[in-house]
Amino acid sequence: MQGFRRELDLLKDQGLYRQLRLMESEQGSRVTMNGRQLLLLCSNNYLGLATHPALKEAAINAIERYGTGSGAARLVSGNMELHESLEKRIARFKGTEAALLFNSGYAANTGIIPALVGRGDTVYSDRLNHASILDGALLSRARLVRYPHNDPAALRRLMGKSGNNGRKLIVTDGVFSMDGDIARLEELVSIKREFGALLMVDDAHGTGVLGEGGRGSAELYGVAADVDIQMGTLGKALGSFGAYAAARQELIDYLVNTSRSFIFSTSLPPAVVAASLAAIDLVDGDEGAVLRTRLQRNCTLFRERLVAAGFELSGSSTQIVPIMVGDAALTMEYTRLLLNEGYFVQGIRPPTVPAGTCRLRCTIMATHAEEDLAGAAVALTRVGRQLGVIK
Ligand SMILES: *Cc1c(COP(=O)(O)O)cnc(C)c1O
Repeated sequence: MQGFRRELDLLKDQGLYRQLRLMESEQGSRVTMNGRQLLLLCSNNYLGLATHPALKEAAINAIERYGTGSGAARLVSGNMELHESLEKRIARFKGTEAALLFNSGYAANTGIIPALVGRGDTVYSDRLNHASILDGALLSRARLVRYPHNDPAALRRLMGKSGNNGRKLIVTDGVFSMDGDIARLEELVSIKREFGALLMVDDAHGTGVLGEGGRGSAELYGVAADVDIQMGTLGKALGSFGAYAAARQELIDYLVNTSRSFIFSTSLPPAVVAASLAAIDLVDGDEGAVLRTRLQRNCTLFRERLVAAGFELSGSSTQIVPIMVGDAALTMEYTRLLLNEGYFVQGIRPPTVPAGTCRLRCTIMATHAEEDLAGAAVALTRVGRQLGVIK
């Protein structure tokens, strides 16, 4: 029998062994783990919508009216009124001609990229893009060029060196998921124009959060009309589940016909779609604006405290605030000691981040209380000094 014990032991030796942690409560800004209440500092539920009464009510009503499952893929019998309502709502929110739902962000990226490019084409992908973008690019069989992180000048040079054959797709995270910095979209737009490329932005962490109306990184920079495919997820700031592509009608029609993760998968269940609809209404309204203001205030407060304590927060300018540690075992020790103090910040290791750049990825929520974040900064500082992460 061929087992996997040796591989598992190797992961343990490298400090890279992963284990699931069990949450015993709903996903609030505090969670219960092992019977203890902890301040949650590693969730992507940035606006607190995953426990919002309006989303819960919408989901319950949808179950009563439409049942629990959709029963089939969209192109068979699984296309329900709710799916089309949500797609229209997303398109209206994003200001695009159309939108298409996917069952997750992972399914969106592994479905969209291979639909747009194939053999003979080229994908230009930021080095720190999310794993699902990399997987989508690999699945596409297009040539993959990974450009240095957030470096449009390097991208331009690389594109200049490539031949002129085939389609070109530039793809980037809007907000980089492990670093919290924002893609330089204005420059990417001008490069895309220069080389006649398509531009796709993955706004998993920008949707609901960035820009005046929460429409994401493209709104923040005023370049939405120049981004060919705005991909976003519904399971992070929107507190639900699933993902979307927002684009011009022709592109959406093409995805319906060619995107394998869309075609060959059962559609999202009614409760999830209804919760997403309620979330977009909320994010697009007054409450969304209030939550974004609170989130912004919390981020500023948290970041100021950490910088004052001597932490370097790399380029983060968003609700994702990484504390760089480096070593994998030391990072997990940091997490463990913080858990003892009542704070849950998951350590992030390869392959999620490059080797030697292990970190605590702190994420801020609109629903964190100011004093909780102040307390967290004190604990992070105390333990950080104890472990020698800061002086
Ligand atoms: C989380 C994430 C995804 C995957 O989205 P899911 O809906 O969780 O599958 C894709 N891209 C980025 C940048 C992400 O952070």
